[in-house]
Amino acid sequence: MKLAILSRNTKLYSTRRLVEAARTRGHTVRVLDPLRCYMRISSEGFSLRYKGRPIEAFDAVIPRFGTSVARYGNAVLHQLELMGSFAPNPSAAFARARDKLRCQQLLAAEGIGLPVTVFGDNPDDTDDLLAMLGPPPHVIKLNEGMQGAGVMLTEKPSASRGAVEALRGLYANFLVQEFIAEAQGADLRCFVVGDQVIGAMQRQAPAGDFRSNLHRGGSATAAVATEEEQAVAVRAAQVVGLGIAGVDLIRSARGPLVLEVNASPGLEGIEAVTGQDIAGGIVEHLAARVGTGRPRRARRHISNGT
Ligand code: ADP
Repeated sequence: MKLAILSRNTKLYSTRRLVEAARTRGHTVRVLDPLRCYMRISSEGFSLRYKGRPIEAFDAVIPRFGTSVARYGNAVLHQLELMGSFAPNPSAAFARARDKLRCQQLLAAEGIGLPVTVFGDNPDDTDDLLAMLGPPPHVIKLNEGMQGAGVMLTEKPSASRGAVEALRGLYANFLVQEFIAEAQGADLRCFVVGDQVIGAMQRQAPAGDFRSNLHRGGSATAAVATEEEQAVAVRAAQVVGLGIAGVDLIRSARGPLVLEVNASPGLEGIEAVTGQDIAGGIVEHLAARVGTGRPRRARRHISNGT
């Protein structure tokens, strides 16, 4: 199989591990900086060049670029898809996964459990918006928050109102959720590949915090997801359209609830904690999907680099 990884940095743990896992299994792998890819789009076909040379179609492509290059990176990913590469995380799904609200709507529409969430725009509606959610405690999250920064807990109505007003003053996009107290500061990261959870870890918030992010001092241990949790995680990834995903679940009294579906889940934490070869699992899944290792037929792909 010929594999491409779209990543800005070959030294990142996840990128390195995917390269290593592909090579040890006899595949060809290339890391492409999406910002150095440039493309020709015409109704006759698609071509792509990289640092002055033509790029032939790959059998499979894995996007590993961050939000800062999301728009351009997604165009490169789409181009490779149009040239015949199998993308477990296609550009449309990769873009969708970055939009928390949209994902919540899609997941809820499929009956997947989520913390009840409200969001609104006009400050005049704040009281009614919070009333739609019910009494505090509330969890308020910035839409573009990462690794637990921008996630706060309010225990009184006046605190919820104050936080919402402060965020509006900063023109920030946010959502407000019911607080799942019974999770006791823990969440469960399920690593989904295809229709399976190939690894799981539980993350526990440090004493005095409800956020279990490792960047906030949380600790992680290997975990076994129940059958129900595995089914919810796989279904959530499928609803967003992802073949590779890190699905964060929170264990509530009414069953597993999805907190987030991550389209570019890190490998370092989960491999360290579980001792499993997650990168190898991804590569083997891709190789099985693309078949014999011969390139798939490109869709009107012009290979002469014009
Ligand atoms: P981020 O995307 O910044 O990591 P998350 O939505 O994953 O934000 O929230 C960070 C952490 O806060 C989660 O890992 C979880 O431990 C905790 N948390 C988030 N939402 C809730 C909630 N509704 N109820 C209880 N705890 C929550």
